[in-house]
Amino acid sequence: MAAGLVPYDDRDGMIWYDGQLVPWRDAKIHVLSHALHYASAVFEGERCYVGRIFKLRPHTERLFFSAEQLGFTIPYTPEQIDAACNAVIKANKIVDGYVRPIAWRGPEQMGVAAQQTRIHVAIAAWQWPAYFGDEARTKGIKLTISDWKRPAPDTAPVKAKAAGLYMICTLSKHKAEAKGYHDALMYDWRGQLAEATGANVFIAKNGALHTPTPDCFLDGITRRTVMDLARKRGIAVTERVIMPSELATADEVFLSGTAAEVTPVGEIDQYNYQVGPITRTLMDDYQAIVRQPS
Ligand code: PMP
Repeated sequence: MAAGLVPYDDRDGMIWYDGQLVPWRDAKIHVLSHALHYASAVFEGERCYVGRIFKLRPHTERLFFSAEQLGFTIPYTPEQIDAACNAVIKANKIVDGYVRPIAWRGPEQMGVAAQQTRIHVAIAAWQWPAYFGDEARTKGIKLTISDWKRPAPDTAPVKAKAAGLYMICTLSKHKAEAKGYHDALMYDWRGQLAEATGANVFIAKNGALHTPTPDCFLDGITRRTVMDLARKRGIAVTERVIMPSELATADEVFLSGTAAEVTPVGEIDQYNYQVGPITRTLMDDYQAIVRQPS
């Protein structure tokens, strides 16, 4: 294990598990859980700023939507999940941190069919600083194009935040890191620009913003927030097909995501970008809006 890493199963605190707060180290699953073998799990990633979870309800709604896409029903109401997320940050005294709800199929049935499995839900929260480190904010991160492609909508439930869809993200990210990059940028099955392994992508050109239409990958909550922020600043935003050739002429590139927030991109393989005015404005506006009292 890398030096300094505290394993996620060996920490102090409380985790909400099937309706109650349990000691962190007791939040376990059985090895024959369906989700572990067949990826029947959906999750969320939320950030809490000054004691408030940003866009909690949209995240909760996406969790329910993702479960529905995988053919199961979360046995709680959205109100109960919101309350549980808030209870978790309170119990762990998280002021600025990350919240991870997850719902999965249990071990009642083994094999591809899983109709008899019970649906479990857990929610954990922890302190989590800048996803790509603080230096990323000033210099921008380095991306490399992945060999893996985002799959077509008729080959996977592509709009769900589902565990199985992250298999190619982990493979892409590992390969990028081995080559000295921070992350990988993925094309889709048609060869169009799609997203990074855990964040959406924007390019700025001649003072306007462009981002791929999310028809085969996650339509990020941060992505939508950033589009609103840009429009409030009078910056035109277009969702459209973006071909890789446009990376050669982009003025600025950045990623958006709950964990990544707004992260400037300084390099994509042979192309270099400045951390320019549009990215800097949106980074600042995003940091302001997430801290705004509702
Ligand atoms: N794409 C992927 C693959 C992600 O994991 C995430 C992070 N949830 C995003 C995009 C951005 O989504 P959001 O802004 O809702 O966090």
